[in-house]
Amino acid sequence: MVFRADFLSDGHSHRRGSQKILLVEDSRMFSSVLSHRFQTELGLSVTHCASLKQLNEALAVDEHGFTMAVVDLNLPDSPHGEALDVAIAHHIPTIVFTASFDMDMRNRIMERSIVDYVLKDNEFALDNLVSTVRRAISNRSTRVLVVDDLPSARRVLVELLEAQQFKVAEAGTGVEALAVLDEYGDIEVVVTDHHMPDMDGYELTRRIRHRYGSDRMRVIGISSSTDRLLSATFLKAGASDFIYRPFVAEELQCRIALNVETLMQLKQLRAAAASDYLTGLYNRRYFYDHGPRIVNECLRHHRPTSVAILDIDHFKHLNDTYGHEIGDQVLKAVAGRLHSLFEGSENLLSRLGGEEFAILFTEMDSRAATAVCDEVRVNLSNLKVIADDEELSVTVSIGVAEIAGYEAFENYLNAADQFLYMAKHKGRNQVYSDIKMTDEAAE
Ligand code: GH3
Ligand code: MG
Ligand code: MG
Repeated sequence: MVFRADFLSDGHSHRRGSQKILLVEDSRMFSSVLSHRFQTELGLSVTHCASLKQLNEALAVDEHGFTMAVVDLNLPDSPHGEALDVAIAHHIPTIVFTASFDMDMRNRIMERSIVDYVLKDNEFALDNLVSTVRRAISNRSTRVLVVDDLPSARRVLVELLEAQQFKVAEAGTGVEALAVLDEYGDIEVVVTDHHMPDMDGYELTRRIRHRYGSDRMRVIGISSSTDRLLSATFLKAGASDFIYRPFVAEELQCRIALNVETLMQLKQLRAAAASDYLTGLYNRRYFYDHGPRIVNECLRHHRPTSVAILDIDHFKHLNDTYGHEIGDQVLKAVAGRLHSLFEGSENLLSRLGGEEFAILFTEMDSRAATAVCDEVRVNLSNLKVIADDEELSVTVSIGVAEIAGYEAFENYLNAADQFLYMAKHKGRNQVYSDIKMTDEAAE
């Protein structure tokens, strides 16, 4: 596990820049609004085609370059959904955007493997379409496990999920399902049949719930049983949802989408609760929640561990001289530099509050951590912050203490704080630690 704050950002934004979407739509109003929204809200680059002819031309230039297509079924040169056939023939995941809709049309659309369809018949049509594209892109980083002993039934579910852009894993039995969950480690949704030879879906749900809470993993039961109590039984065992066979594809899609959305919202809430609002680093709460676990793990494996508290020198003076806003800019700059210095390491960096930061060093005794902190100190003293046409710089003092045995987490921080106090007392812009004290005594 890498202790970085990067999960705090929207985990899906980083690759969208390079993704291209085909927008096949003849209405100028719809296409200009959608082009703008796809670019600004989803970071997609848009190729717009107002007719089948233009679509064929775009595909002739760049046949494999499109990650998705939004297709209007009624175009001036192709009024019967011919553009959809072309997009599907090119294996482009496609969302249908249509004004004309009836059962016959619905069946014709759903026969093909499309991502989804969105109707133009209401004032939320554009919002719905943007959300559908966003969801389809984010589904690509969500893995779903399908558990069913009947290969043909499994195939139907896998195809439906893959059309929705999910990453899909499969299992033919409950025992296999538990093994696959361990093997992948990133499965977030399980869709499971009930009647299976070795373990029924109810028992599988129970066992999954023993290991994973519903805030991390959703379980959806599915069965052709005529037992009307089965859905309640599943839900009581901890399933997040249940659906009877035969199901309507759209209903299953919506239920899965709702469950995935709940997981995303919970992830965002966890990230917000763990993050410091000003700097984006982990906050005090996260440090105190996760620090003790990391320390225990290190002690158990006899790994050296240390903790440091870093405090900006004379920060009050900087605030008083330049104002609180510039003080904030300096805090952000210091936090950004610290983040980049510790990025990719196993060490846990956080802003404890004010101008105080803490670093929990794994795999480092006090001597090693003291040396690293001295590099950090020098690095930060070279940081220049431009504010109000002035170039500002700061120095920091750091206290480091080794974690030698099991104690209350607070005690480790108190020890580091004592050494920080001594670093300040000795004139600031320096690192002080137990090892420095020992070295001094020996001199
Ligand atoms: P020392 O060298 O002993 O650490 O002195 P100092 O002035 O840095 O320390 P002191 O604790 O006296 O002052 C810290 C100041 O940091 C006081 C407070 O107003 C300011 N501060 C705390 N949080 C924030 C913040 O989020 N933004 C800004 N701009 N200032 C903050
Ligand atoms: Mg200070
Ligand atoms: Mg302080």
